[in-house]
Amino acid sequence: MRYIEHLRKTFPMMKQHLLMDLGNSGWLNLLPSLKTNRLVYRVGLHAMGFAMFLLRLPKYIVYLNPEKLILPGLDVCVTTRCTLKCVDCAQRNTFYRSGKYAAVPEDSKLENISASIGKVLAAVDGVVIMGILGGETLLWPPLPQLLDEILASDKVFFIDVFTNGTLIPSGELLKRLKNKKAKVSISDYGVISSKKDVLIELFRENGVKFDVNYDGKTGWRRIYKAKDGPELPRGRTDEELGKIFKLCPIAKFCKHVIDDRLYICSILPHMDKLKIKPFDGMDFVDLNLPAAQVRDGIENFQSLDYLPACDYCDYMTGEDIQPAIQEEEGGA
Ligand code: SF4
Repeated sequence: MRYIEHLRKTFPMMKQHLLMDLGNSGWLNLLPSLKTNRLVYRVGLHAMGFAMFLLRLPKYIVYLNPEKLILPGLDVCVTTRCTLKCVDCAQRNTFYRSGKYAAVPEDSKLENISASIGKVLAAVDGVVIMGILGGETLLWPPLPQLLDEILASDKVFFIDVFTNGTLIPSGELLKRLKNKKAKVSISDYGVISSKKDVLIELFRENGVKFDVNYDGKTGWRRIYKAKDGPELPRGRTDEELGKIFKLCPIAKFCKHVIDDRLYICSILPHMDKLKIKPFDGMDFVDLNLPAAQVRDGIENFQSLDYLPACDYCDYMTGEDIQPAIQEEEGGA
């Protein structure tokens, strides 16, 4: 029974990992000529994905062991500074910029982030995809050094560096991005992602795996009210909160490290940092605890029935919106 329960819990992670290998790993973007023939492109995509899957087979076997704790996704926020001013930024940069909340845009310190990641890795057996994000990730000066540390870890299977397509990486950063474990996710917000085409050429020339997300028109969800707030609870019942929490993909796949805390999802840390919601202590694990207790805390995430903090978030219920409307355009 324990084995079946373990498989039931870990199946979504295995599926996500498999899908990564079966085509979402950015390899085919390095071969633009193949894209002119969709059939060849798709066959090539799956063939390469399957080859990757075979190469990584030992990592899948880890999932089958109920004693192992694998995080499907771990996001690390390195800066809340950004080159854009998106009205509906999921990381609540609008709130940071407003100056009306408890934090303003700033870079995290390399030593703090390294220490926090080290504490998470000491407590788990692996992380499938570590996402490095901001704000705008490429604004953060020590990114090459952080990548050196993460790429050296056997416990991190893939790294995904997110950028909004407005900056060009330095030569030092480019060297790290060529690593076989690394991929870059470029957000295409239309004309405001002004360096997107240059980035794509640069990555192709240098063998950096990448993919391009969004199409400038769809793909975002409005998750909170106006920045001038106050951000009030929506008044959902425990049952409604339970449904939201159980179905939320961010809660399943996007644990988030910020300031010595590991949060259940990547929306919550900014709520806490900005002091948008009352503290309840259910939504994060304190990384200053011994590794065994951090591990217990992460395992406990899975047994929660609902999360009170979801009452401040519309990720599962909000309207779909155009990505990256800028403050000047949106009038926020
Ligand atoms: S706060 Fe709740 S609903 Fe919003 S993303 Fe996190 S887990 Fe999902």
